[in-house]
Amino acid sequence: MAEPLESESSLLVVVLDVNAGAWAQSALPLDRALQQAVIFINAYLALNTENRLVVLGTNAHECRYLYPAPGGGAPAHDVQVYEQFRAVDARLLSGAAAMVDGAASDGAGHSLVSRALSMALCHIRRTLSSATSKVWPRILVLSAGSDSTREYISLMNSIFAAQKMSVLIDACKVVGPDSVFLQQAADITGGNYVRLDAAGSESLLQTLMFTCLADHYTRGILNAPGNELIDFRATCFCHKRVVDIGFVCSVCLSIFCQMAPVCSTCQTKFSFKIAGAGKGRPAAAPAAATASAPSAAGGTPSAAMSSLNLS
Ligand SMILES: [Zn+2]
Ligand SMILES: [Zn+2]
Repeated sequence: MAEPLESESSLLVVVLDVNAGAWAQSALPLDRALQQAVIFINAYLALNTENRLVVLGTNAHECRYLYPAPGGGAPAHDVQVYEQFRAVDARLLSGAAAMVDGAASDGAGHSLVSRALSMALCHIRRTLSSATSKVWPRILVLSAGSDSTREYISLMNSIFAAQKMSVLIDACKVVGPDSVFLQQAADITGGNYVRLDAAGSESLLQTLMFTCLADHYTRGILNAPGNELIDFRATCFCHKRVVDIGFVCSVCLSIFCQMAPVCSTCQTKFSFKIAGAGKGRPAAAPAAATASAPSAAGGTPSAAMSSLNLS
């Protein structure tokens, strides 16, 4: 990735997790958090007049653009407020309120963060391919919901796509325990990860200003908050346990802590044929079976569960 030589314009995609179920557990109410997020976004827009902004809202059921709002009319004119601030404030607050009201129930408190990241990356790709001057893209995830193992594969795919596109992912976990997925996203893409504990949730704006406002160039000068304690082990899909050694489905790459005859993610049946039996080779234990590739003779590919050291 080429390093910026001076401050240039940025494209920031903010992913706002408005999962009402998760925010209900927070010491900081959602409306106050949104107000602080709006102040941060205004500060970002004020840093450089060419800075571009997209805000996506996500909850347990959907992801949608909050800014720029598709087909949204211009909010009422107010001479006291800078035009762009007013447009962002009005659309973001009303869009987020509509998502909260529209959600029937946010169930277990998981939000569609991977879907929001995919939308963000598509938007960034489109913008960069039509941009005439250099734009530095980044994503900020304001997360409230907990990690969902269903999202693991799509989230990791998004993270690696972001890394290839030189998109920084910053993550701020406002509610609940650490998100292992977002920690990995920030670390792999060179962004910052911060979690507000219950006592510090009032400091959301301060945290965002100090850790997520600086552009690509300025980050080279600043000392980012360290994240030495990131857990890079994978999480098993069956019990959400972090595993050192697990079993990997050769079809969908799901990870399991114990061997099973059928992959619970993609329903593939595993063949536990003893490799090399009758051919003079020592019989391999099923746990150590390796993924078999489709045979050149046109035989059907057989799936296997491979044991893998994941740490
Ligand atoms: Zn498990
Ligand atoms: Zn599978």
